[in-house]
Amino acid sequence: MKVAIIGGGIAGYHLLNELLKHKNSKQHEIMVFDDTNHLGRGMAFQRDDSELLLNYPSNLISLKKNKPDDFYRWVKSNQSMEEIQEDEGDNRDAEGNIYFSRQLFGDYLEQAMNKLTKKKRVTTVNHRVTAMTPRLGGYELKAGDHSYEVDVVFLVPGQLPAVDHYQLTGTPGFIEWPYPLEALDVDTDKTYAVIGSGLSGLDCIRYLTDQGLNQVIAASRNGQVQAVRGKAMTYQFEHFTSQTFDAIKKRYHGLLPLAALIDVFKKECEAQGVDYKRWLNFDRRDPVKALQHDIRNHGDIGDIHSILYQMQHHGYELWPYLSKTDKETFMANYEAKIKENMNPMPEPSAEELLELISRHRAVIKGGLKAVEYKYRKYRLQYEDGTEDRVHYVINATGPAKHVTDTDPGELLRHLLDEQLISENPYGGINVMPHDNRVISPFGVADDFIVLGQLTGGVNYGNNGVYELLLEAKRVVKHFYRRR
Ligand SMILES: Cc1cc2nc3c(=O)[nH]c(=O)nc-3n(C[C@H](O)[C@H](O)[C@H](O)COP(=O)(O)OP(=O)(O)OC[C@H]3O[C@@H](n4cnc5c(N)ncnc54)[C@H](O)[C@@H]3O)c2cc1C
Repeated sequence: MKVAIIGGGIAGYHLLNELLKHKNSKQHEIMVFDDTNHLGRGMAFQRDDSELLLNYPSNLISLKKNKPDDFYRWVKSNQSMEEIQEDEGDNRDAEGNIYFSRQLFGDYLEQAMNKLTKKKRVTTVNHRVTAMTPRLGGYELKAGDHSYEVDVVFLVPGQLPAVDHYQLTGTPGFIEWPYPLEALDVDTDKTYAVIGSGLSGLDCIRYLTDQGLNQVIAASRNGQVQAVRGKAMTYQFEHFTSQTFDAIKKRYHGLLPLAALIDVFKKECEAQGVDYKRWLNFDRRDPVKALQHDIRNHGDIGDIHSILYQMQHHGYELWPYLSKTDKETFMANYEAKIKENMNPMPEPSAEELLELISRHRAVIKGGLKAVEYKYRKYRLQYEDGTEDRVHYVINATGPAKHVTDTDPGELLRHLLDEQLISENPYGGINVMPHDNRVISPFGVADDFIVLGQLTGGVNYGNNGVYELLLEAKRVVKHFYRRR
């Protein structure tokens, strides 16, 4: 059997690893498609400025399920701490946990991917796949000048490009996507604004001020910044378990009522002594107060981050089973509060941001309502009637949720047009819950499986390093069960 993996980021790595490990995969030939710049690293961990940090402490993020400190050990066995600190600085939180750069994590990933792709049954094709056409018993893939016939396709193309909310594409100073930041030709005589005050906006502020810009404005609709990561905890769940949810779904004929889910959430928080109301009700609208609050409460605020993080791993067995009304209620009333406390920023970055704000070198603004390009400058207009004028605007609003809100690239455009994939109303494309088989107007495809953010409308919150590991394990298990 010939198996194609399209995309060589973290999800592609985990898929390859899980396929190779499975006892039934001995006869498979596996082809991994990606360009040389991204194979092994993906988009998030490509080579870039060494001050762009991972959002987890180095001892808590790795490629191994039961060895969270594998990356940290890898770093220590490859480089001295002095060398790293010279390159990246010494980024520690209140507990002394050290944060390394995403680039360094990319080195670790690339080495792991190289080890797998050297195996006999694996070949790499260093081109992007541009078309995929069904044929009898499989697919034909086009990459570079060649076509490849395969029996099964795993598509793992990563995140969608950003949405151009203000239709600025094509204007001279608009930067559609910030990464790699190092490739930006920063003109310190000119003025810059960043759209978005999340983690990518923070990367831009840190990078641009480091390059010598006097001031960077980060403007967004709500003007909020992400929470600051507190002390990590591990909980042994008593209520928030697959068994509980299976029992509820059984009682409600396959559906999971939101009220029942909230009830389980509250019970679990109470059982673990997590004061969810204290953290989720905190008003984060003032970024300085919010950052200071989180840093001050480092020891306790980690409770809510950690419990939400662990709950997120159940997303695939919860979200698809909420009714349409419950999904909408969740998005309107709860999602924003929960997201503020998911993917928190590293404490050293928060301290740096506070320092930049105090010296007016970083300005975080909410109420952004329009951005116009006029007379060689961008005009950022706010709800209170004020305006900023800058020469350059960077779009740091993060990846689009919906495929049709952006240009998803040649392959996805082609797949949508041929109706081999179809859009999910809650984001990305339609796949079967649990096993990620693609659902198209032609039915469910046993031999076409998609992982990662593109399935986010089904697999809620599946896009982190650890979540993709869990997803790959689950999907490969289901794949071999069907064979
Ligand atoms: C800037 C940034 C920082 C992040 N930081 C963190 C972090 O600190 N911690 C964390 O947990 N998560 C972080 N994330 C989330 C991150 O996206 C995921 O953790 C993870 O890297 C996604 O892996 P992936 O394999 O799905 O996608 P990617 O890593 O993007 O990999 C997808 C790969 O598919 C390839 N590809 C796409 N289309 C084709 C095609 N047609 N043919 C062949 N190849 C193709 C791309 O070149 C790419 O290499 C970050 C994301 C971004 C964008």
